[in-house]
Amino acid sequence: MRWTNWAGDEHCTPAVVARPRSVEELVAAVQDATAAGRIVRLAGAGHSFGDLVATDGVLLDLDRLADVLTVDRAAGLVRVGAGIRLHALDAALDALGLALPNLGDIDRQSVAGAISTATHGTGIRLGNLATQVAELELVLADGTVLRCTGDSDDLRAARVAVGALGVIAAVTLRVVPAFALRAEDRAHPLAATLARLDEHVEGADHFEFYVFPHSDRALTRTNRCTSAPPAPAGRLRTWVDEELVPNRILDAVCRLGRRRPAAIPRLNRLVAAAFPARVRTDVSHRVFTSPRHVRFTEMEWALPRAACAPVATAVQRAAERHAVNFPVEVRFVAADEAAFLSPSWARETAYVAVHATRGCRGSRTSARCRTSRSPTTGARTGANATCSTQPRWPRATRSGPASRRCGPVWTPAAASPTPTWPVCWGRSDEPAIRRHLPPGG
Ligand SMILES: Cc1cc2nc3c(=O)[nH]c(=O)nc-3n(C[C@H](O)[C@H](O)[C@H](O)COP(=O)(O)OP(=O)(O)OC[C@H]3O[C@@H](n4cnc5c(N)ncnc54)[C@H](O)[C@@H]3O)c2cc1C
Repeated sequence: MRWTNWAGDEHCTPAVVARPRSVEELVAAVQDATAAGRIVRLAGAGHSFGDLVATDGVLLDLDRLADVLTVDRAAGLVRVGAGIRLHALDAALDALGLALPNLGDIDRQSVAGAISTATHGTGIRLGNLATQVAELELVLADGTVLRCTGDSDDLRAARVAVGALGVIAAVTLRVVPAFALRAEDRAHPLAATLARLDEHVEGADHFEFYVFPHSDRALTRTNRCTSAPPAPAGRLRTWVDEELVPNRILDAVCRLGRRRPAAIPRLNRLVAAAFPARVRTDVSHRVFTSPRHVRFTEMEWALPRAACAPVATAVQRAAERHAVNFPVEVRFVAADEAAFLSPSWARETAYVAVHATRGCRGSRTSARCRTSRSPTTGARTGANATCSTQPRWPRATRSGPASRRCGPVWTPAAASPTPTWPVCWGRSDEPAIRRHLPPGG
């Protein structure tokens, strides 16, 4: 069976695809692979952009471990199978009057995939999704099930581990009572938005902005929690706002831009002007997420918040040099000390993302940006740079074909109550996870 990621630029034909229906079957699949010396990798929903999933060994797909297992309303905890998709979880929580405190901009990912890469939304007082993990169950290479819980380094290592430490079988998440958001989408001059950035970021529960290369308009989205009842827009208005403009028109513009790169500056200004201003109040997960049909690849940088304005400007300029139709996206996330590999470890973080549709000349922009210099520090701003920019796991960090040969020889935790994490999930002399760390990391 051939596996392909969402963007369509990563694929593989694993020797074995296993879809366990229980933790016992999962343990058996891992033990079989270990005994056979086969490489094991984990697939969530395939929405990451790097080469984190592809393998010619064993691919484990946890789609059948996707139930809501227990709900503890008093403690605000929900335990789920690792394969559950965020949209299914959102619906189940909604029915219980509960919600996740924050989400990224789509809900198609698996819970395990999303937390393993520190998937984030925006909101300077809220951490990434992995910070919402209270406990998880991890199947190690020898089949041991390790419960990572409490204020432990095990949990800090396992929350964001890009599949390198073991297979997450179940996750306990902190949830909150369901809430509504008042969402305001507006266009403002980019310079004014950057000048008042702190005010925007701190004055809302969730603030983000987009800027198209060649446009001087920032498309801002400001969400605030509200006690007002949800009043979603009608179907036609929703279709125009969430399907017609951000998907169909953007798709047409990207196709045109691929054929006629010289037209991109004008096209980008037109599409930026077409993005609708709107105000709505709706249930949180329906505000946070929306459908994304235009396939793209993405590179994202996690920066100290204070570096946001100059770096976002530099990234926009770089995108302009490489014919990019997609808007640069800028979001803000709280500091955390919840996961050793969290890109926002111990610092408030701004995320700046550049997207490119497949086949467009700008799809090389990521690589170019990766080696560009920070306008403020002169340091490299790339995802693997040694400056204070942090790597962002799911993005287009490539470690080359060799990474597919990483296999399941963790140091089994069975031998010790505190596992030795650095030797993990890699059969070559270099552990898989190292290849995704910055030099010296
Ligand atoms: C259209 C689109 C929009 C996106 N929006 C956002 C956004 O708003 N914010 C953001 O931060 N990211 C965003 N992303 C990126 C996405 O959230 C991450 O790449 C996420 O990891 C994808 O989850 P997945 O279930 O598809 O995982 P996959 O891509 O399948 O896997 C990702 C990683 O998780 C590991 N993994 C999967 N299952 C397990 C398991 N059971 N145990 C251990 N490890 C496991 C895999 O080994 C791999 O390393 C977006 C991606 C797309 C395509």
